[in-house]
Amino acid sequence: MTREPDYGGEKDHLEVFEPDDSLDALVDIAKAIDEAFPNLKCLRCGSEGFYLVDTGVEGFGGKAVDLVCQRCGMVERHSWKILKKAAKPIITD
Ligand SMILES: [Zn+2]
Repeated sequence: MTREPDYGGEKDHLEVFEPDDSLDALVDIAKAIDEAFPNLKCLRCGSEGFYLVDTGVEGFGGKAVDLVCQRCGMVERHSWKILKKAAKPIITD
């Protein structure tokens, strides 16, 4: 299913794509990604729209999630355990 996460309306470019039972966790992850990467853009095409998908894969002691570009389909994977602990924002050039 597809549902828009509601976390203040400030950022709405991350769309959670997951069954209801893991939606809360994914909304938390979406918040952390927005906090970590305030200028998130697709590494391939520069689009700012993504699906956030629970991969079902366990990596580095926790959930691994994918960001899927809504325009070109580029997939970027994050270990939630590492991302959660990271000092935010994570500034890149
Ligand atoms: Zn893209």
